[in-house]
Amino acid sequence: MTALLTAQLGPLDEARAQLADAVEILGLDEGVAAMLAVPRREMTVAVPLRRDDGSITTFIGHRVQHNLSRGPAKGGLRYSSAVDLDEVRALAMWMTWKCALLDVPYGGAKGGIAVDPRTLSDGELERLTRRYTSEILPIIGPTRDIPAPDIGTDERTMAWMMDTYSTAVGHTVPGVVTGKPLSLGGSRGRASATSAGVALIARAALEHVGIPVRGATASVQGFGKVGRDAARFLAESGCRIVAVSDADGAVTSAAGLDIAALSAYAARTGSVAGFPGGEPIEPARVLELDVDLLVPAAVEGVLHAGNASRVTARVIVEGANGPTTSEADAILEARGTLVVPDILANAGGVLVSYFEWVQANQSYWWTERDVQERLGERMTRAWGDVLDEARRRGVSLRTAATCLAVERVAQAHKLRGLYP
Ligand code: NAD
Repeated sequence: MTALLTAQLGPLDEARAQLADAVEILGLDEGVAAMLAVPRREMTVAVPLRRDDGSITTFIGHRVQHNLSRGPAKGGLRYSSAVDLDEVRALAMWMTWKCALLDVPYGGAKGGIAVDPRTLSDGELERLTRRYTSEILPIIGPTRDIPAPDIGTDERTMAWMMDTYSTAVGHTVPGVVTGKPLSLGGSRGRASATSAGVALIARAALEHVGIPVRGATASVQGFGKVGRDAARFLAESGCRIVAVSDADGAVTSAAGLDIAALSAYAARTGSVAGFPGGEPIEPARVLELDVDLLVPAAVEGVLHAGNASRVTARVIVEGANGPTTSEADAILEARGTLVVPDILANAGGVLVSYFEWVQANQSYWWTERDVQERLGERMTRAWGDVLDEARRRGVSLRTAATCLAVERVAQAHKLRGLYP
């Protein structure tokens, strides 16, 4: 793996380096390893948008299906100006491992449009989403590839995608996307499922290292769909959330932030910046505070060689995908920091997406309690599996989780055989 490392590794290099580690440990066939390093299918589309002023702007979108050996592809749709094809490839590969680790019958996919959604009106966002959906229509579907929300998208985006797909095929197909509004066949518990899983794993990880959850201190980077509810669930478990950041600023309070008040403030103003119930703080400092638990829940690569040695949290639970670079991983491991990898920590979202897809395909809706119990049971089982694997192989939780997942995907490939 070290041969691959340079100072400027992007997410795809990181994902491939993690795969290379697992391949070496598992002793996988070189040909299979090479096949797993590249996406099975990818599509890049131009998405022309008629603006509210009548002009046309063309955006670039992607959909990447990394692997289909265990079932249809599954993965989020991201709207961010940072989206590029390599980022989408990396995120699709991580989705393959996440689905395999949680043993849901999916391969991995991801999509994205290079656009800052905050610069578009609601009407423009709807037209952009509908055009992108119609461009990628040939490769998505409830048995092919099922998108879900990610950075910059939400249940409204999924409703537009579902409607566009359904209009094209001539009948309603709720199973084509997950993360839909409840009234359109969404699942109870989906909106906060990723955060519920992050909080569950964070509690387990704190207990694992001997830190009582009640009274533990935590900081959370990112206050969107994942970070906001993760902070809320952790606070409800008795953690003291001492700092929170988003793309526009950060706040801290040694006594603990009032997460309900902060959520209401951020919903009203669009950011946590300026929240009167705390002090402003440099956003980068949120990662380096003296806390028991750090939850990066924003973007990739935020913990890197340049700041990892200043991170003092005893436990890091990755709410975001790919927040820790491999160089940071090595530094944190040497310091004895427990890093719970994304493919385990934030898997609650894809798990309840799977529940939503099952419910949509059967037109039979579960209660909130059904969803929460099954989420808890499967996340706890995956946590136990990863701990056992890490102990057995004497490796980090990330390497253990990746090994478990890669082994399952490689086995599915082997059982199916290579066509022709
Ligand atoms: P979101 O768009 O709802 O929220 C993203 C948040 O991160 C916002 O508060 C934004 O201001 C903040 N942010 C962006 N750049 C930042 C920076 N440099 N520093 C601090 N904050 C920053 O997105 P989300 O759905 O919450 O996704 C967050 C992460 O979780 C992503 O890595 C995503 O891939 C991952 N994830 C999301 C889900 C899901 O169900 N939504 C599931 C699994 C993983």
